Amino acid sequence: EERQVICAGCGVSIQTEDKKALGYAPPSSLERDVVICQRCFRLKHYNEVQDVSLTDDDFLKILNGLGKTDALIVKVVDIFDFTGSWLPGLHRFVGKNDVLLVGNKVDLLPKSLKKNRLINWMKKSAKELGLKPVDVMLMSAEKGQGVVEIAAEIDRIRHGKDVYIVGCTNVGKSTFINQIIKAFGGDTEQLITTSHFPGTTLDMIDIPLDDGKALYDTPGIINHHQMAHFVDKQELKVITPKKEIKAKVFQLNEGQTLFFGGLARFDFTRGDSTSFTCYFSNELHIHRTKLEKADALYEDHLGELLAPPGPETKDKLPPLEKHTFQVKDRKVDIVFSGLGWVTVNGTNIQIEGYAPKGVNVTIRESII
Ligand code: GDP
Repeated sequence: EERQVICAGCGVSIQTEDKKALGYAPPSSLERDVVICQRCFRLKHYNEVQDVSLTDDDFLKILNGLGKTDALIVKVVDIFDFTGSWLPGLHRFVGKNDVLLVGNKVDLLPKSLKKNRLINWMKKSAKELGLKPVDVMLMSAEKGQGVVEIAAEIDRIRHGKDVYIVGCTNVGKSTFINQIIKAFGGDTEQLITTSHFPGTTLDMIDIPLDDGKALYDTPGIINHHQMAHFVDKQELKVITPKKEIKAKVFQLNEGQTLFFGGLARFDFTRGDSTSFTCYFSNELHIHRTKLEKADALYEDHLGELLAPPGPETKDKLPPLEKHTFQVKDRKVDIVFSGLGWVTVNGTNIQIEGYAPKGVNVTIRESII
């Protein structure tokens, strides 16, 4: 019979199977008297938090718990994949708590983009998605831009309460918290305490604030709709932008198609000649062709000319699914979740956007 081992740091049940999941510790660590999970280990020894992912059920418990606390909630989203990283249920769970919305990875967007316009766009989009944040801020956790300002704002608007940082995996939550730890020089050696999350058996890592309250790092949830699930590590590097995106402009006539690698397709099916501005990773190859040839091209050249996916991953890729959009006279973005978007500035246009089944293709008011 297996004995239940509990992390001496955060109190979570130890498991030795899944490195990315909560409570992971290497099997050898079980021989020790005091076992701590890898996440606590990293924090203790490297002053570094590491994101772990949760099952949907456990994540729901966290969300439920948030409503029962009296705290400031800091919601981090990836500005390059706003809807994809949104955490749709959150607003129903926050209760009376204030939410600060933080858009991360702002370094990826073109420098010409007006920050205020983006912030207003985020406010409006948040409202449409049912959330009314007390404030919206931008940062680049990786570059350390905006981090100190956000930390100061958190301290100002928390009104002496605890702080919970939430976000789905990969939004840069750990990078952010690590920057905060660095900026405020916490000695994490003493910091790891068991902190029961209200209403759950989940315990989180907390970073004490100087008035006895704490900043809590909550585990993230995997976003199942992301393109990232259909490619391998190497290919993920190609589709994930690393630095400022260089917009690519295509002047298209009706009946022309763009392929974004082999992962997405954009058909201009009706309208006058229009220019389309593409915001994707600089490394992702965009291939222009005639609409009438697009099906055959995809059939014959997926995995080579149209890559990623590569020859190995292409068979795992679900079939492309079509989404139809009418653009009357607004400037809009057609968004391929987790991959990028195309800004459409024209009138009376019809677009058909394709992505692997399960990956969202959506239309929004243009952010740029
Ligand atoms: P978490 O899963 O939310 O904790 O996210 P991580 O902090 O592990 O970051 C996920 C990925 O996003 C990593 O590859 C980071 O290098 C990257 N990342 C984090 N912050 C930024 C940022 O401000 N800009 C860019 N370009 N990448 C970032």
